[in-house]
Amino acid sequence: MKKPRTAKPTLPVAKSPRQTEEKRYNRQSWRNPRYGLRAALLVRNPICQKLTDGIQCHTPATVVHHLISPLDQPAAFWLPVNLCCLCVRCHPGGARGTKWTAGVDFVPTNFEFSFSPKPEDAHV
Ligand SMILES: [Zn+2]
Repeated sequence: MKKPRTAKPTLPVAKSPRQTEEKRYNRQSWRNPRYGLRAALLVRNPICQKLTDGIQCHTPATVVHHLISPLDQPAAFWLPVNLCCLCVRCHPGGARGTKWTAGVDFVPTNFEFSFSPKPEDAHV
């Protein structure tokens, strides 16, 4: 006779802030190359925004950096004013947020989103 499979009892595990943050980075609304926020910002800020002595880095941006770590302010994860596009060399990887000022430490982030409705969607 076959022994019935028994599910192992599991206890609910509280998610750490870092686990929650990692889930956000994996969401399509962040990482999708066509419509994710990350891609939308890199299209609008294709050159690294880091300023050094008032001169902008000229390397293509590939990283979107959170100025305030989502670990410290989870709600700031999606705020474009909290994001800047950097090259790998300028990205302070591992740093938990940076105290950078727009216009001093980095070129202000362009996050204007245009929307052009299809003619059939336009309400006259
Ligand atoms: Zn750079």
